[in-house]
Amino acid sequence: MLGFDRHAPPHALGSSHGRSRIIRQAYFEHPDYVPLVQRALLLWNELQHAAGRPLLAPGGALMLGSPDSSLIAGAADSARRHGLEHEWLEQPELARRFPQLCPEPGMVGLWEPTAAALVPEACVGAQLEMARAAGAELHLNEPILEWSPTAQGISVTTAQGVYRAEQLVLAAGSHLPDLLPDVDHGLWIERQVQYWFEPLGHSAPPIHLWELADGTFLYGFPDYGDGLKLALHHGGEVTNPDAVRRSHDAQELARLRGLAERFLPGLTGRLLATEVCLYTNTSDGHFWIDRHPDHAAVLIASACSGHGFKFASALGESIAAWIATGRQSPELSLFAHRSTTGLATR
Ligand SMILES: Cc1cc2nc3c(=O)[nH]c(=O)nc-3n(C[C@H](O)[C@H](O)[C@H](O)COP(=O)(O)OP(=O)(O)OC[C@H]3O[C@@H](n4cnc5c(N)ncnc54)[C@H](O)[C@@H]3O)c2cc1C
Repeated sequence: MLGFDRHAPPHALGSSHGRSRIIRQAYFEHPDYVPLVQRALLLWNELQHAAGRPLLAPGGALMLGSPDSSLIAGAADSARRHGLEHEWLEQPELARRFPQLCPEPGMVGLWEPTAAALVPEACVGAQLEMARAAGAELHLNEPILEWSPTAQGISVTTAQGVYRAEQLVLAAGSHLPDLLPDVDHGLWIERQVQYWFEPLGHSAPPIHLWELADGTFLYGFPDYGDGLKLALHHGGEVTNPDAVRRSHDAQELARLRGLAERFLPGLTGRLLATEVCLYTNTSDGHFWIDRHPDHAAVLIASACSGHGFKFASALGESIAAWIATGRQSPELSLFAHRSTTGLATR
């Protein structure tokens, strides 16, 4: 097996950096993701064991919003359908359990005790280590320039040479559109800033994810040693992966500070760091993992719409099985090219 990357992962130029990613099972986006995230969690734990170093930080997560928000209603629906451990917290119980947070009147909380944070750089590093140990040949800092079908399979051209293979998996994140010049893909790339603040106060928040009345999604992590991380989910500027603004501006920071002061009053001090990261979005926010519409030897595995990291272990397993056996596992059929998917309706 041959693998190519335009950089040397883990790196901070794509979508898999920033020292923390939430893995949660009460999946508000759609209940059909739940079996896949459960498999992913098991595989992350196995990888952690094999790597012999921490990849996951347990601790649970609190989701906050109005009972009919997509976050709370969706998470509760997934939790009930799949019998997941969770607690529905009304105010004032919410205030008693999480006094450091300041929900608005009418907001409720859904506590998922098994949610955790993954360390993306450590996870990617461990996956590459395991791939090498299993015999994969990794060509780093070697971008694929183009690919084309041949009588036997696929030919791939990089700056260093031309390679031939029976099958090709394209998982190029925000650069996927460059490798699909003839496909009407509808993908768009969104810039997101991750912020770390000096932690103040005595009581650190758990992982928290809010859907505010105006539809804004705010989320954050406890201090894992580099400050309290806060960011917004969606609502970022549309960008081009070759021309991303890599620093934040004063207006963006002021907005984040305003939200922090409103919902986590007194917890955030000086700004310690920021990192810009990219979402590769489909039009409906679900993944796109399917054979290329015109070339069956090419599998498209990307476009995770800002919520894919947690699944990487399970998606890797299912995609590997698909190319090895020719059989698509049922959970991947959820992410087929949109005309056939059932995910759009709950
Ligand atoms: C700020 C932020 C917060 C997020 N939070 C969460 C979260 O809490 N939980 C969660 O589950 N998900 C989260 N996500 C989403 C998740 O991180 C992404 O869905 C996931 O990391 C995408 O991985 P990817 O492999 O598709 O892209 P990438 O990680 O960008 O990997 C693509 C790789 O392809 C390489 N490449 C590109 N072009 C070429 C080429 N031509 N030839 C060879 N290699 C190429 C790139 O160098 C890169 O290494 C978040 C994303 C962001 C940005």
